[in-house]
Amino acid sequence: MQIHKMYIGGRWVEAESGKTFATVNPSTGEEIGFVPCAGEADVDKAVKAARAAFNIWSKKTQAERSKVLMKIAEAIRANADELAKLEGLEHGTPYKDAFGATMGAADKFEYCAGTAPTLMGQHIPVKDGTLSYLQREPVGVIGFIIPWNLPTIMTAVKLAPALAVGNTCVLKPPSINSMIGLKFAEILSQTDLPPGAVNIITGPGGSVGSAIAKHPDIDCIGFTGSSETGKRIMSDASGTVKKCVMELGGNNPVIIMADADLDASLKVLAWRQFNNSGQHCSGPGRYYVHEKVYDQFCEKYIAYAKTVVVGDPKDEATTMGPVVSKEHRDKVEGYIKKGVEEGATLLYGGEKPEALRKGFFVMPTILSNAAHDMVIAKEEIFGPVAVIIKYTDKDDILALANDSPYGLCAHVWTKNIAKGMLLVNDLHVGSVFINCQMLSNEQPWGTSIKESGIGKEGGMVGMAEFTDLKLVAINYMV
Ligand code: NAD
Repeated sequence: MQIHKMYIGGRWVEAESGKTFATVNPSTGEEIGFVPCAGEADVDKAVKAARAAFNIWSKKTQAERSKVLMKIAEAIRANADELAKLEGLEHGTPYKDAFGATMGAADKFEYCAGTAPTLMGQHIPVKDGTLSYLQREPVGVIGFIIPWNLPTIMTAVKLAPALAVGNTCVLKPPSINSMIGLKFAEILSQTDLPPGAVNIITGPGGSVGSAIAKHPDIDCIGFTGSSETGKRIMSDASGTVKKCVMELGGNNPVIIMADADLDASLKVLAWRQFNNSGQHCSGPGRYYVHEKVYDQFCEKYIAYAKTVVVGDPKDEATTMGPVVSKEHRDKVEGYIKKGVEEGATLLYGGEKPEALRKGFFVMPTILSNAAHDMVIAKEEIFGPVAVIIKYTDKDDILALANDSPYGLCAHVWTKNIAKGMLLVNDLHVGSVFINCQMLSNEQPWGTSIKESGIGKEGGMVGMAEFTDLKLVAINYMV
């Protein structure tokens, strides 16, 4: 079995301690490779490399940086087949989806290469004889800590905007998807990116992630993951007063009104529920379905769930692979059990066929007759489990939707757009999707609402998060 190395300062290195850990194929539970188990000393080495590279990378012109980013996009496309197969092996993503994610990662670099040159500073008119302006600058060395749910695209989502505007980076992939992070490093190593501009180090969150958050020479943390880990990181980062851009947990309400186009809604929502085994931060968390269409919605949901083909990500017919790990499978199955104990109906799902018992599979599941105060409606399941609650005209649907410690996004389905629009201002969330789920490179994602995060990611607004505005004031009459 291959023992991989990490990428620090443009070189492939072992952990200082020489320790490694195994990563696992979630479709079989078998170990597939070993990666370095980094520690504080490795983080320090990576930060020093990133700091040295900052002096080179940040001094390049925007056009020069954009050219390198375009080359990175090309290199990702050239390696797309290999990267997608690895995502299937280490994360369990069906090939077609993984290939799409890889192409999305390339697009992200292209988008940032194209748009970064248009991010400008600002002239501030104050008084005659003076010049005052805001100069946009990179923040410096950014420490990225990312989750396992979308390993390839998430790496690009973090690195592309940060690099585009002149920062250098130390990135820790999720431990369980470390090989994907290291493959990404290999692709970057084939480009003109200066050594040290991106350093990818592997290891557990509690030690490596925490060392990144605490490191005095890291200027900013870009984190995506659970709210609990986010709070720990912010506490670690507070010692050196770092900027923290945080994309955290969610439990997104879905409101299906009596006049909703049910077929259209399920095409979007049920797809999102089962694609990537439901491990999407923007996906449906709990469905509030109007009593008039509740039975019909449930029937149509079952019909959709029956079309999902669960199996080996390598098989062309497979549309849903395993969840990412044994721990996560146990957690999701624990929620299904809890839901039934609490009185929800297991409308669809249940026993796994023998062939799927070895890996970390969870069957597409629908829990109907759920109630707003059940654990399954309150917590983030992050799996292929639809939790469906009936509501009536007597219910305050806004209050139900807003009653959550999270505020990531909300989904509304109605043919009466005016009714949908009336909800927009009062839904206490960062994004509202009406009759769609649309997220593109141009649209920023994320929110500073409740425990779902701080700041934005993606689009021009997200790229600006990785810059600082320096005020320059000149009295030219002196
Ligand atoms: P997680 O919080 O367990 O881990 C995320 C990363 O943090 C991993 O790399 C992990 O190794 C690291 N980590 C763990 N403990 C740490 C510590 N003490 N210090 C520093 N780093 C540490 O999250 P996960 O289980 O990988 O991902 C699922 C979660 O991510 C869900 O809650 C989901 O909602 C959230 N998520 C949010 C978004 C968003 O855009 N808001 C996107 C994707 C996922």
